[in-house]
Amino acid sequence: MTTSHEWFERARLVMPGGVNSPARAFKGVGAEPVFVTRGEGAFLETVGGHRLIDFIASWGALIFGHAEPEVVDALVAAVEAGTSFGVPTPGEVEYAEIVTRLVPSMEVVRMVNSGTEATAAAIRVARGVTGRDVVVKFEGCYHGHADAFLVKAGSGLATFGEPDSPGVPTGTAGDTRVVAFNDLDAVEVALAPGDVAAVIIEGVVGNMGVVPPDAGFLEGIRALCDRHGSLLILDEVMTGFRVAPGGVQERWSITPDLTCLGKIVAGGTAAAVYGGRADLMRHVAPDGAIYQAGTLAGNPLAVAAGLATLRRLERDPGLHERLEEAGARLEAAVTVALEQNRIRGTVQRVGAMLTLFFGVEKVRNWDDASRLDREMFSRFHAAALRRGVLLPPSPFEAWFLMEAHLGDPLERAIEGVVASLEEIA
Ligand code: PLP
Repeated sequence: MTTSHEWFERARLVMPGGVNSPARAFKGVGAEPVFVTRGEGAFLETVGGHRLIDFIASWGALIFGHAEPEVVDALVAAVEAGTSFGVPTPGEVEYAEIVTRLVPSMEVVRMVNSGTEATAAAIRVARGVTGRDVVVKFEGCYHGHADAFLVKAGSGLATFGEPDSPGVPTGTAGDTRVVAFNDLDAVEVALAPGDVAAVIIEGVVGNMGVVPPDAGFLEGIRALCDRHGSLLILDEVMTGFRVAPGGVQERWSITPDLTCLGKIVAGGTAAAVYGGRADLMRHVAPDGAIYQAGTLAGNPLAVAAGLATLRRLERDPGLHERLEEAGARLEAAVTVALEQNRIRGTVQRVGAMLTLFFGVEKVRNWDDASRLDREMFSRFHAAALRRGVLLPPSPFEAWFLMEAHLGDPLERAIEGVVASLEEIA
């Protein structure tokens, strides 16, 4: 068993699509996945022994690099001390303290095991506190796979041409009101009946490719939520600690009522966090009646990896500036290559997340994103992979920069990307 193809054949017999999460199957680019045995810094090593410069970065969960030594050391120490106790540990307290320090709108937080759990729990809190059922979400935003959110939910689903999932009860989907991203008038219409528990949003969308908010959009939503008695839930699972140390809310000076964090918050292990205003979070059990629990929530492994990651981030105030510069360098190189090769397309970037959209000029919402040239992206993806650059295997995803990319790996990746654009032109 030495090739990814062989492993994929074997995997398909025992796992849906051969994978544990749909996007990993590379169907979005009409290809087969690479199987990987290890990661180090900016690189992944495949079962066939190829080294790839990785821009999937565990779908944004990694901001420093693979097998970051500080995180590895913290994990090894945690493993040796026992992986799960089911009673409280000091580390959980320190962890909650650093999260609330980096994201000040989160006064009280609860650890869970995935971003999906975080958003589902946040919605329950919003519904429980407001006594309302309806949730407003934006077309193309993904908030995990809980029933209420699998309505016009962006990348994974768009890639497969399935706007909704069978198995989601009509009643549940009926409580989800969907509006277009960057359309403030539509938000106002959706909130006007006064029955909305919460508006949930990716402040910078990553799940239809990178789409930033128009000037005033997030501020406008905040004001509308206040006017109509609805809560604002900022889903920063992808943007948290990435677009700024304090996420979208720091960069755009927005104060949400509740926030969901995932990916980077757990340093590459399986954990996530939700939280926000103390008066809301005090309704969560056992302080209050809104039930939410987890056997492995706050387990020592997740806490160790999360703490090591967040401490390193807090210690290094220049990190995001360096990532910004690297992002700008990549964006500029790709933009020039598009022009030189007369390829219609655009690069959209916020900090260390970026998407190259083929066949469109500007993407402000899902309508725009859905018009991109999928076939061209597939050819480009394959060309880049042949040159040792692993991009997310879907045109509707963000490419993620890590600190480990800075310097030589980024320059080599740019060479590969530019040559791939020349090839497909
Ligand atoms: N919210 C956003 C914005 C995400 O990007 C994701 C996952 O990509 C989720 C929620 C769900 O997180 P998880 O995959 O950890 O369940």
